[in-house]
Amino acid sequence: MTAQWIDSWSPVEGRERAEKVYRDCFNAEPAGVGSAPGRANLIGEHTDYNDGLVFPFALLHRTFIALTAREDTIIRLVSAQEDAVWEVDLDEVAPGAHTGWGAYVAGVAWALREQGYAVRGFDAAVTSCVPYGAGLSSSAALEASAAVALDEVFGLGLAGTVDEPNDEGRKVLVQACIRAENEIAGANTGGMDQSASLRAQAGHLLLLDCQTQDVQQVPFALSDVGLALLIIDTRAPHQLVDGQYAQRRATCEAAAVALGVPSLRAIADAGRSADEIAAQLTAPGALPSDQNPEVAVRRVRHVLGDIERVRRVVTLLDEGRTEEVGPLLTEAHVSLRDDYEVSCPELDVAVDAANAAGALGGRMIGGGFGGSAIALVRLDEAQKVADAVAAAFADKGFTAPGFMVAEAGAPAF
Ligand code: ADP
Ligand code: MG
Repeated sequence: MTAQWIDSWSPVEGRERAEKVYRDCFNAEPAGVGSAPGRANLIGEHTDYNDGLVFPFALLHRTFIALTAREDTIIRLVSAQEDAVWEVDLDEVAPGAHTGWGAYVAGVAWALREQGYAVRGFDAAVTSCVPYGAGLSSSAALEASAAVALDEVFGLGLAGTVDEPNDEGRKVLVQACIRAENEIAGANTGGMDQSASLRAQAGHLLLLDCQTQDVQQVPFALSDVGLALLIIDTRAPHQLVDGQYAQRRATCEAAAVALGVPSLRAIADAGRSADEIAAQLTAPGALPSDQNPEVAVRRVRHVLGDIERVRRVVTLLDEGRTEEVGPLLTEAHVSLRDDYEVSCPELDVAVDAANAAGALGGRMIGGGFGGSAIALVRLDEAQKVADAVAAAFADKGFTAPGFMVAEAGAPAF
């Protein structure tokens, strides 16, 4: 079974594609083109909304948006990946009022205006090679591309230039994108994706502290040490996702209250023993009656474990012990599968088949219940491992997966 590879577009190709979509729809040339990457996360999953640590990087796969400002407040949007033109008056954008993909873009304009920036209406055309709903954050790529394009055409001065990105300004754009997704698109997000898309740097992992929003750029050049990171898009249909994500967040929040801390991050930093935490969570009346204490103990164990694993991976990379990252990925997968219970058969088969074929380790990434997995492999074995995963999917009768060899790409610009 031969693996199918998901190609990325060059920046020039993506720009030209977006300009063409714009021209075909609006019969004019766009004033500017913005683009932003999807992301993968090496380690630290479901830790962002617990004020924890995450360790993502930007993909080469990007979303492109061609955009022209209007004098009025009308927003007209078209996407090569969607059928209908999406139209709204910016003055009428409000939480809970919208459905559909355009809400991600209109929401960014709304959030920037809420923050006091002079944004009006605009016409925009979108196209992307980031796969949808694959856990690679096409939604954040869409928001971030809109954010930098709006920054450019309305002269907000927040993004900086390609060579000299303005990280403080980008933090403002990140917040606008998060508000767009949470409040206008109505999708839950913890904030990792938007930071990765706007604040990552080419050739680097982004160590993001979700408590302070502080970042550290960590060099990520696997091919220099004969390794590669394989991304496996399982193409599994997302099921049950919305309710499950909200439940996990609610359990973490209830556990933090029971433990007397603002977020689970504080417990991770306090270095308390697992037994002590379990005893406190399972004490009568510690948790609200809709939370199962035994389940909460496992959920907390995952979050604390993954924050610790991020720290261990940072140390391993720093010491040049890159191969040893592999087993930590698999450890994280087991934790997500058994303690956090957000995996699914396709993700488990992807990780197990990759490891059986010689990967150094692997795990599901993103929210779970579908989406993508990563596997750390020897560079010259990437094809072999991908073929083995494709064969395992065929054996199980699953939809054929898609593959990428990850490279840490540039942020939104
Ligand atoms: P993920 O972020 O993992 O890809 P999400 O469900 O969070 O999955 O976001 C996918 C949604 O984002 C799509 O259903 C669509 O509404 C919107 N979206 C992403 N990319 C595009 C695009 N190129 N054109 C139009 N809508 C897009
Ligand atoms: Mg998303």
